[in-house]
Amino acid sequence: MDYKDLANLIFPEAKEIAYYEEKYPRRNLKEGAIVTRFAPSPTGVMHVGGLYQALIAKKIANQTEGVFFLRIEDTDQKREVENGVSGIVTSLKDFAIEPHEGMSSETEEIGNYGPYKQSQRKEIYQAYAKYMIEQGKAYPCFCTPEDGEQIRAKQEAAKIRPGYYGVWAKCRNHTVEEMAERIKKGESYIIRFKSPGREDKKIKHKDVIKGNVEFPENDQDIVIIKADGLPTYHFAHAVDDHLMGTTHVIRGDEWLSSVPLHLQLFYELGFKAPKYAHIAPIMKNDKGNKRKLSKRKDPEAAASYYEEVGIPAEAVKEYLFNIANSTFENWRRANPDKSMEEFELQLNKMSVSGALFDMVKLLDVGKTVISKYTAEKVYEEAYNWAEKHEEELANLLRNKEYALKVFGIERGNKKPRKDIAKWSDVKENIEYMYDEAFDKKEQEYPYQVIKEKEEVQKILSLYIERYYDENDDKQTWFNKIKELAGEMGYAKEVKEFKANPEKYKAHVGDVSTVLRVALTARTNTPDMYEIMQVLGKERIIKRFEKAKQFFS
Ligand code: GLU
Repeated sequence: MDYKDLANLIFPEAKEIAYYEEKYPRRNLKEGAIVTRFAPSPTGVMHVGGLYQALIAKKIANQTEGVFFLRIEDTDQKREVENGVSGIVTSLKDFAIEPHEGMSSETEEIGNYGPYKQSQRKEIYQAYAKYMIEQGKAYPCFCTPEDGEQIRAKQEAAKIRPGYYGVWAKCRNHTVEEMAERIKKGESYIIRFKSPGREDKKIKHKDVIKGNVEFPENDQDIVIIKADGLPTYHFAHAVDDHLMGTTHVIRGDEWLSSVPLHLQLFYELGFKAPKYAHIAPIMKNDKGNKRKLSKRKDPEAAASYYEEVGIPAEAVKEYLFNIANSTFENWRRANPDKSMEEFELQLNKMSVSGALFDMVKLLDVGKTVISKYTAEKVYEEAYNWAEKHEEELANLLRNKEYALKVFGIERGNKKPRKDIAKWSDVKENIEYMYDEAFDKKEQEYPYQVIKEKEEVQKILSLYIERYYDENDDKQTWFNKIKELAGEMGYAKEVKEFKANPEKYKAHVGDVSTVLRVALTARTNTPDMYEIMQVLGKERIIKRFEKAKQFFS
């Protein structure tokens, strides 16, 4: 009896690995092309950290004309949720991070390197496990969970490193005959890797993001095939990323300490190891403390949050690039109109300790992104969002022709309006342009410098009687406000007022504010000339009358 017989006894059906090596040939890509993947477990909601990893992995693949694929790691079937794959596929689609290859729905996939769902690759893993047993690099372990408990208790009592290694790895030294006999007797077992490593030796490794790292060698005989016949993450990672041609494993840095084991597995399997890029988690400033963005504590940790509050996916992505590479901000400033896809992302410039996620900055990016949209696009996006999340807004927007005029105010010019960061801001920012909504609300007219009843009423009356003409161009319109100011004893120019404040009651800007507040009940709005154009004379008069009454 030798290792080969033992391997045959354990996996009689498994194919030779040569079969798979041939079935999944090396990818024929141009030199320097990078193959990356996103490999989540379908265990629930997609986390923004997952999006971040996927975004980076896809960007790196795209930049080098490589491939980005989606692999579902569902070998821990206890942790699975229903429709977990669809959830991931949909999230990636919502953020336009669709993979080139891999799972495309709960059950479908595209590409020649599948199946892309680990639970369907059982026989592949078993073929490689069989190969390892044949080489004497893996063995069946008959230790029961109770044996495991005992080992742990002894190690704890003796204050030594926990695990299944060295003298503690009871089953690694059984003879082949003994192993075969116990299997034939029907004892249950798992398959363990026979680690050739030594804990007192160090390995040096260069991570693409973390730089040079040094670890003790792995000496743990980790489980590679579990009792249910499925592999553990470690073994599946090595087999899959080898067969699927991954050149760069971009993953969360909770896996960094597994690198010694993974490199060992690749080596013992006879595979070329990929490069590793370990991404630090996204952090959040919580009352002065930096901590990980948490699924439990932070609503913004869920990828679905952004659609719910109406932050465009494009803004989220743009912001994630911002925190991925600090050079992005300057690049964006120099290239305000380029697509973010043109930015050259560098893995080795990513934060080693964890980038800080700042909602205020993200909303700022949202404002800029939306400010560049056409009125038509703002309309479509806001309306679609409102239909799902805010009926009142959807009702306001039903009249498309009018809504386009409203969204068109101060848009499409050099300095477009920047008052909308997310679709849930829209109602607040446009409702004063709708009479029904405006009249329904009890308005508090927040006059500023000029606020006396008589003075305000006089400005409004005089303006309509003598100065307003809806055919005026913007310059004439503004000149007339200056004239009105002059007539009433206000400085026509702010400069003039500043030079001789004692000569005037206030200045033209203060007069404008009266008009603005009377029209919109706000001190801050986009361009007032355009607002007046959209409202038209009749409605302006009505608004002024309402404002005048406010005092009585
Ligand atoms: N399934 C692993 C996880 O979700 C994947 C890690 C990897 O990308 O290799 O953490």
